[in-house]
Amino acid sequence: MFKELVSVPFVYRIAVKRALTGYVLNQGDGSVKIVVEGEKKNIDDFLEVLKNDKPPISKYTSINVKFMNYRGEFSTFKIKKSKKKTKKSGISYIPPDIAICKECLHELFDPNDRRYLYPFIACSICGPRFTIIFDLPYDRDKTTMVDFPLCPECAREYEDPLDRRFHAQVIACPVCGPKMVLCDKNGEVIDDEEPLKTAGKLIDEGYILAIRGIGGTHIATKTTEDDPVLTLRERRRRPWQPFAIMAPDINVVRSFAEVSKVEEELLTSFRRPIVALKKSDEYYLSEWISPGLHTIGVMLPYSGFHYMLFRYTKEPAVIMTSGNLPREPMAITNEDALKRLRNIADYFLLHNRRIYQRCDDSVIRVVDGLPKFLRRSRGYVPEPIILPFKSSVVVLGTGPELRVTGAVLLEDRCFLTQHIGDVEILETLEFLKESLFHMMKLTRVKKPDIIACDLHPLFLTTRLAKELAEQWNIDVVKVQHHFAHMVKLLVEHKIPLDENIVCIVADGVGYGLDGKPWGGEIFVGSYNWFERRGHLEPQPMPGGDLAAKYPARMVAGILSKVLSMEELREILLDKCIKGFKKGEIELNIVLSQISKKINLTETTSAGRVLDAISALLGICFERTYEGEPAMRLESIATLGDPSKAKVTVSIEQDGGTYVINTTNILLDVLEESKKARREHVAAAAQEALAKGLVSAAINIAMEEGIKIIGFSGGVAYNEAITKTIRKEVEKYKLKFISHRLLPPGDGGISAGQTVATAMGYR
Ligand SMILES: [Zn+2]
Ligand SMILES: [Zn+2]
Ligand SMILES: [Zn+2]
Repeated sequence: MFKELVSVPFVYRIAVKRALTGYVLNQGDGSVKIVVEGEKKNIDDFLEVLKNDKPPISKYTSINVKFMNYRGEFSTFKIKKSKKKTKKSGISYIPPDIAICKECLHELFDPNDRRYLYPFIACSICGPRFTIIFDLPYDRDKTTMVDFPLCPECAREYEDPLDRRFHAQVIACPVCGPKMVLCDKNGEVIDDEEPLKTAGKLIDEGYILAIRGIGGTHIATKTTEDDPVLTLRERRRRPWQPFAIMAPDINVVRSFAEVSKVEEELLTSFRRPIVALKKSDEYYLSEWISPGLHTIGVMLPYSGFHYMLFRYTKEPAVIMTSGNLPREPMAITNEDALKRLRNIADYFLLHNRRIYQRCDDSVIRVVDGLPKFLRRSRGYVPEPIILPFKSSVVVLGTGPELRVTGAVLLEDRCFLTQHIGDVEILETLEFLKESLFHMMKLTRVKKPDIIACDLHPLFLTTRLAKELAEQWNIDVVKVQHHFAHMVKLLVEHKIPLDENIVCIVADGVGYGLDGKPWGGEIFVGSYNWFERRGHLEPQPMPGGDLAAKYPARMVAGILSKVLSMEELREILLDKCIKGFKKGEIELNIVLSQISKKINLTETTSAGRVLDAISALLGICFERTYEGEPAMRLESIATLGDPSKAKVTVSIEQDGGTYVINTTNILLDVLEESKKARREHVAAAAQEALAKGLVSAAINIAMEEGIKIIGFSGGVAYNEAITKTIRKEVEKYKLKFISHRLLPPGDGGISAGQTVATAMGYR
């Protein structure tokens, strides 16, 4: 009945308060038995509170109530210890970090409370968990709170079963708990009396602050003026990538963004993710927070000191972006923050509680009415994904290269690590390794039976898999990137083992079975096999990876198939010259590369096609962050109407394989851009690509008698494309599945890798 043991003291409290006698028994299999005796009206009241006032993290799958005649068996109410052995002996429940609860928030601002304005206020149902736990069981001496011995008053609350803080491992107060200080760049303390008050003032004055918080460090500054935002962009060397912001409450969020019911539920949940919201017509914050995008990432405060900060700043919202240098993991110690962020922040808000596990904020975007993780981390990790079967082997997964998470799969659970980031340097690789080892410790795995990784031979994560496999003398299984995408979709929908699906996987690039970069794929398969039955037309990438950074090169490559070199040259000069860093000289080099067929790797990536459309329409010529050209294309397309421009798509058959012609899409975009407004062309182009993919998928499903079509990959964050695909699938009375529990992008790849391997894929 209960998901977390913390609920047992809650049951005890509400029973005793209503003068009920009896007991509560944690049965060790996830269910709880409660027997109470007392006045009928008190029992009814007890049930009411049990159902409606439960701790936010508790989930009931069912509550079965049976009334019996009064027997007078009990004189007190007791918490009984379970005699049975836990069925799932190896796996205990490990809670994620939980946002400050209502009661604690009330106490925080109550001048008569002894924790009045105490930034680290928490109780038995709220506060950090995952980020401060270094081992299980979850007791105070296994968390970084062990550094703060309880004062007599806290000890009394901790021992009192009727107190809200009974057995609250994170209990603390101004006398015995962690403390905050405000420092300058040199670590000199400038305020230890009211550091948050001064911090709020400094933000109002336009300074940039580093705030060491719960699972890492944020960089904060004001949002109502361009200057501080632009300064931050310069110092972080991050010209375009959006920053997340924090606003004090949902009403303030509504003053600059549109908030749907689903989005509101996400924002206010105890998990407190960042939610990408549509900017409203009244949007009044700096455009430089998320330049060129129609969305802005917003979260609500999740700890006492966040709420205090908003008490002291006049800003309606504050930028809260991860405190790291480009490509590096976030700083988590005071020393590290001071050292690595000294050229970014003017002041440092620090504290003396250790952060054991770094954990970035989670990021979600609601697409076609369903939440899609861009990043599954704080508030969700380490909750496992439950599999529809039990694995006989323990599998470790190291993920791909970008937006990596690792995974540990055992029995019927897959535990994903927190968001690691792009594993391109040793610092992030080390972070991945540590996080995997920590997850193994929490799940009591000493050594896995097998390791899964990406098929790409050069990824650092592939190298890590090999090293660990040698060390443990176990096998490595390489799982094709887009197949891993498909399997993570199968598993989160608990698709039966004997049911095949058709899956569209559209993203940037992943290493294909033929060694070429794939990325616009249609597979048929299940958990342990797949067949490539369709894909986008292979397109040349002049200059290889440079074509991903500068999408005008993709335009050149694609259109070179149908235009003469002279025509192509003219069009590129007219439409895309900004996309060639050194202007005409570079353009000429690219054209000669194309005509001599030098360095022209071919890719079926959907991302590269969207990038090319973005460049051809003059929307984005340089990718300064992953997905940028396609994201900015989508933002322009939201203003357009696809029926107002004519972009068509054709599908060819090559043997048994469907190939979606993308050259004609680009050619139509070129023609239409002469007549129609670019937002209409953008919308029509996205729709054409979606229709090409889904038509091929439907054909394959019909041929194979398959009932389910799935959609995964980074392109699945695109709302218009997702909607088009879903609607087409439903027109044919087939079932459409997309991600809700795992990121559509690469953040969930490790789950796909481990599940496929557990199911025997080789
Ligand atoms: Zn609380
Ligand atoms: Zn205390
Ligand atoms: Zn991918």
